Amino acid sequence: MIANTKENIDLSLPFRGSRGLYNFNSGPSILPKEVFDEAARAVVDFNNSGLSILEIGHRTKLFVAVIEEAIATLKELMQLDEEHEVLFLHGGASTQFFQVPMNLLDEKRTAAYTDTGIWGSKAIKEAKLFGGVEVICSSKDKAYTYLPKDFVINKEHAYVHITSNETVYGTQWHDLSPFYNSGVPLVADMSSDILSRQVDFNGFDLIYAGAQKNIGAAGVNVVVVSKRCLGKISRSLPSMMDYRNHIEASSLLNTPPVFAIYVCMLTLRWLKRLGGIAAVEGQNNEKAELMYKTIDDLPIFRGTVEPEDRSKMNACFVTTGADIEKEFLSLCEKEGMIGVKGYRTVGGFRVSMYNALPLESVKAMTDLMKHFAQTKG
Ligand SMILES: *Cc1c(COP(=O)(O)O)cnc(C)c1O
Repeated sequence: MIANTKENIDLSLPFRGSRGLYNFNSGPSILPKEVFDEAARAVVDFNNSGLSILEIGHRTKLFVAVIEEAIATLKELMQLDEEHEVLFLHGGASTQFFQVPMNLLDEKRTAAYTDTGIWGSKAIKEAKLFGGVEVICSSKDKAYTYLPKDFVINKEHAYVHITSNETVYGTQWHDLSPFYNSGVPLVADMSSDILSRQVDFNGFDLIYAGAQKNIGAAGVNVVVVSKRCLGKISRSLPSMMDYRNHIEASSLLNTPPVFAIYVCMLTLRWLKRLGGIAAVEGQNNEKAELMYKTIDDLPIFRGTVEPEDRSKMNACFVTTGADIEKEFLSLCEKEGMIGVKGYRTVGGFRVSMYNALPLESVKAMTDLMKHFAQTKG
């Protein structure tokens, strides 16, 4: 039973999921249960080889089959054309903040950046080390709670960089057409919404994403890069920083994060079996609709983002005061709802609803919110 309830309200609902907990973590985050089961088995005995996935060579047939399947499945799910290569690299999305400008920008040129939150600002800071940066728009004036609609991308820009989904503030670019049609190469940090919705991935010249939100385990990031945007700068690059070397070596330039790539492969396999991005997008829409409808229906909660820019992956909201906030957070904890606290510098609540999060978890969360609102009524 839950403490602090008004009488006549039964809060002893079966809130807990099959794993006992509801995981709304923002990253690393929930993955399909079958992925955990299979990965656990592979740690003990990988594909009946008598060896653990953790002790096989990265150039063995066993592992090459894994990375080849991961790359092929990703290409299939994203419907990539021949121009686009898929890489599995180290260093997280944060390394891409500088690897991208290192490969695409030099002192003679200027890149266009959108400043829509913490991640965009970090990307801007790093890009300045390698060339000109023009911040073409910013939503900093309103604490990053909306996406700017007024900006100009100039034909002279080396590329335009966007954060497709801002994980911390909960905004998402739903209309990508201004970027597709800008006439300059399009680069996106898709860490928190890659594979969550159908977009024309071939319309991007470079996409990067840390794996730990929608693709798999932490320790690896996916880079999708079109060959046509490489080799245009004059600087010489360290071998490990040059995308062309990784393309040439099929992501086996050095020892890759074998286990993390294996977990990605399993998650991609799961997504394909589920029916691909179209199928998961339907579920993601349903989850987001339920979540935001609940926030809007309950006066005790308030969504922080402009409705048209709300993220379908990370729903951010606040309540009426610090005490109520604390109370709801401890109720969440008590009911096994994990990861609901907003980002450390932002506060409030953030419910992350990545691909692997079942609709039942959102139902459980929204039920809890309704009951909480009733007790405060
Ligand atoms: C989580 C996140 C990052 C940082 O990823 P790391 O892998 O920790 O470097 C960057 N951008 C976005 C949009 C994110 O959500």
